[in-house]
Amino acid sequence: MEREESLNLICVQCGRLVRVETATTDERGQAVHSECYDLRLYGEQSEWPEAYCKALWEFEDALLAGRIVDARGEISKRLVELSHLPGLHAKEREAISEAVQALQSLEREDQRHKASEIGKVAFEKVSAISRSFARASREY
Ligand SMILES: [Zn+2]
Repeated sequence: MEREESLNLICVQCGRLVRVETATTDERGQAVHSECYDLRLYGEQSEWPEAYCKALWEFEDALLAGRIVDARGEISKRLVELSHLPGLHAKEREAISEAVQALQSLEREDQRHKASEIGKVAFEKVSAISRSFARASREY
């Protein structure tokens, strides 16, 4: 019988879990997200694909905002480098503009999620206060 853990591998590029069904393998036969693999080919000399993947595969809400900031930082560094190489790395530029858009929607989702969390906490506080008022007014 197959063990459960064997269904998940660690992506060699970003260090996050990758499911066997969606994994691809790199030239050394190591598991990698297909997105990560493509990005590595686009940007071999730079750090941004890794930072971007870490944001893309970050499932800890508390860490996501920081990952997005890191990825954006690496992307701007790379864009500065690319600005000195006009006409080169067309595929990577394409990948970067896709990454920038993906980071934007990731950030919007993150903010929406946080807003609803804050809303929930605020609502709970208000209802706790109104409950204690209700109790107090019954007691007097
Ligand atoms: Zn990955």
